[in-house]
Formats: sequence, C-alpha cells, structure tokens
Amino acid sequence: MRAFGYTVAGSPAEAVRIAASTPESTFVAGGTDLLNLMRDGAEAHDHLVDVNRLGTDDVTVDSRRLRVGGSARMRQVAEHPRVRREFPVLSEALLASASPQVRNMASIGGNLLQRTRCGYFRDAASACNKRVPGSGCPAITGHNRGHAILGGSDHCIATHPSDLAVALVALDATVHLLGPGGERAVPIADFHLLPGATPDRETAMRPGELITWVDVPRTALAGESRYLKLRDRATFEFAVVSVAAALRTRGRVVQDVRLAFGGVGTRPWRDTRVEAALRGRPLTGQAIAEAGRLLVRDAEPYEGNRFKVELVQRALVSILSDLGGLR
Ligand code: SF4
Repeated sequence: MRAFGYTVAGSPAEAVRIAASTPESTFVAGGTDLLNLMRDGAEAHDHLVDVNRLGTDDVTVDSRRLRVGGSARMRQVAEHPRVRREFPVLSEALLASASPQVRNMASIGGNLLQRTRCGYFRDAASACNKRVPGSGCPAITGHNRGHAILGGSDHCIATHPSDLAVALVALDATVHLLGPGGERAVPIADFHLLPGATPDRETAMRPGELITWVDVPRTALAGESRYLKLRDRATFEFAVVSVAAALRTRGRVVQDVRLAFGGVGTRPWRDTRVEAALRGRPLTGQAIAEAGRLLVRDAEPYEGNRFKVELVQRALVSILSDLGGLR
C-alpha cells in the first residue's frame, strides 16, 4: 500500500475546497471499504480528506421527510426509533448489512459509494473494465454466480452491493451533493449508473463532489415497508437476491406499491412496470407471479447466476405475501 496524505476538514465547504486543490485526493469517513480497496490495489489515492467532523452526521425526521447526514453511521440510522417505526425497510436493510463492527464505523455516504464485490475487480492482477477500462471482463465467461441478470452490458455485469441503496430506491430518496460547482440534488434512482461502455463510471457524482445529506419522503407507504435479503450465510454477507417492498392495500386491492431489488441488477434495480402491474389489482398469488415474470422478462443470466431468475421471483412472492397478509 503506497503512502498517502491526510487532512481533517471542519465543514463541507472546507472538505470540497481541500479536495479540489489536492490532486489524486478523495474523501474518507469510516474507511471500511476505501482502505481495503487501497490496500488491495483496486484504488490509489495520494491524499484522503477526513469528512467525519463536518456536522453532517444528524438523523432527523420532520413532517415531510427523513434527513440523514452523509457522515451519519449505519448503526445510528438503523437504530433510530423513528426510522425503525416509520421507515422500517431502511432499518432492516441496514441491520442486514455487514457486521455490527462495520455498522458502527461505516457512513451512509460511504455505503452508497462502496464498490462492487466482483472478485476480479478486487484482484489487481485480473483484467477488469471497471478498474482498468478496456482490459476486459473475465466475469462474463468466468465466475459469475454473484453477478447481475439485469442491466448488464458486454463490458460489465457486476452488481452494486449496497442494501441501503435498494431500500432508498424503493422509497424515492434524494441524494444531496456539494461540489466545486455548488449544491445540487439527484434522485436516488438516477444516482447509480448502468455500466454501458463505461463501467468505471458508477454514479452521477461529478469530480470533487461530496454527499452531504440523503432525504427520504415521509409517507404512510414508507411505514408499511420491509426488506428481505437472501444470502449465503446469516451475517456479514452480501445479497444473492434482495427485495425492498412497501405496500398499501384496501381490502385486498393494492392501493400503492414500491419495489426495488438487490443482487440482480447492475445498479439497485427498480422497474416501475412491475409496480404498475400490481397497482389497482387484488393482491393474489397470480397477480404477484405475473409481476415477477414481468420483472425478469429482459433478464440475461449467465451460467453461474441462472438460478437468480427464479429466486428473485420467489423472493417477491414471499415479501408481498407477508406484507399483504396472504399467509
Ligand atoms: Fe470488472 Fe465488472 Fe467484469 Fe467484474 S463484472 S470483472 S467489475 S468489468
């Protein structure tokens, strides 16, 4: 691991200013992913700007929204009483992530910006278009059990590993950024990018931008939400398939529904056609099965991950059956 400089910033504006004037720099909060990437040679930075003392670590709820600071800790958000009660899918997604030790350290901004767990990406000796553009994608013909069946390209089929991002996509969150060009807000659905021909470009963030806040609209639907994560072991494991769901019914009829999926897409996956197929219909096993088939209609599975086509449909049946009281 090569040597790097380190500066502690005292405000968001100062952090952005330091980063803009320091070549090859990046921001660090908990460092739970970044330092592993630097040690493994998957990323290289000459300078880290510490963003732990910017005053952006609050978690607040008012009549309109939940606001989570970019440097708030995963545990802090997961255990917040109002998040547990009014945004249960967020709390459940966070508690299903990583380990207690990592949740104590890792920030919300860092969680959204964590890099893929594709083994070729993390191995500096392997080719990888995301790490070295133009070098190839060995996952397409190699080990692809953990990879995407939706949203892939000839250049990359890696999934995004964040559970939190899946839950935020289901709840229509907004990511607030501060950078050299000022402040702006990006809907979470547009925040993570499809790989296309440039898988090295993963988010809509511009150079030097910092995540300051994440806002989640406070709705009755958010209070009726859940997160289901299927994984190879019970803790400290990434999703093979996950579903974030929020559902409101009147009688048996679906009044409103939000669905997002992890482990199957090259970004946290939302397909509003699937929600539209359920809205206004009685929630039955047949309606859910039809929605599931719509979800995987454009799936492009590979040898190692073909099982996900069926698994994600079963996960959808499971979570909507629970939320809708079908069993
Ligand atoms: Fe790299 Fe993406 Fe291919 Fe993995 S799937 S080897 S991250 S290009």
